[in-house]
Amino acid sequence: MYYIDPHIHMVSRVTDDYETLSKMGCTAMSEPAFWAGFDRGSAESFRDYFKQLTEVEPKRAAQYGIQHFTWLCINAKEADNVELSREVIAMIPEFLDCPNVLGIGEIGLNKNTKNEATIFLEHMELAIKYNQQILIHTPHLEDKFQGTKMILDMLTDDSRVDPSRVLVDHVEEHTVETVLENGFWAGMTLYPVSKCTPARAADIIEMYGPERLLANSAGDWGPSKPTAVPDLIFEMRRRGHSEDLIRQVVYENPIKFFSQSQNFNFVRPDGVPVPSIQ
Ligand SMILES: [Zn+2]
Repeated sequence: MYYIDPHIHMVSRVTDDYETLSKMGCTAMSEPAFWAGFDRGSAESFRDYFKQLTEVEPKRAAQYGIQHFTWLCINAKEADNVELSREVIAMIPEFLDCPNVLGIGEIGLNKNTKNEATIFLEHMELAIKYNQQILIHTPHLEDKFQGTKMILDMLTDDSRVDPSRVLVDHVEEHTVETVLENGFWAGMTLYPVSKCTPARAADIIEMYGPERLLANSAGDWGPSKPTAVPDLIFEMRRRGHSEDLIRQVVYENPIKFFSQSQNFNFVRPDGVPVPSIQ
């Protein structure tokens, strides 16, 4: 089955991973800007990172027949540095016309600090000003419930934000319902040590249905498994779910969400182009 990984950090992965993903049916991926495993020293360091995301990774992916898309921002972990964040935000418009940029992300909260919230709101302004979609990182473990609530409040308080163009990622059992109820898309991150396992993700699909639900591997610098989406496909088949239902979650839903970005010039492997609806 063809699938799309809507959230995977390929700058952290070796080229062999691209080959494996391609052989497993991955036909496109989106890579939000994130933490690099260390704090960067200057805004110029982000400029190089954005070039890596918009120039280097699409070429690396194309060698294995995979289309690579990306999202730009300063991540929540480094966003506690307000001065640096503002320099990075000021630079982002230079990159918004790059052909693989789908929007602003992954913005969010890490420790739910005041500075993080300030920079979240400034990213939101940027997205609204440039009519960009938004991809959101929600905090981990004990900070997730409160952080998700803070994020949803900031988004729903602003009537200019269209929830159907916002993806809230790393949802779990205790946060998915409020995300979907408010009209947002919800992403389940399949992670070996925290977040969601393939079995828990299958439970969530069974409880809430497939509408506006996505599944991703994160595949980042920490312990993670870039082939976690095929693991979910396997788990869903093992439970007897239809191929149509599985395909909706791992393939058609990402296409539907991303198609709201003007730069989503995706070509299905069967050769039929998917026109952007923006
Ligand atoms: Zn991420």
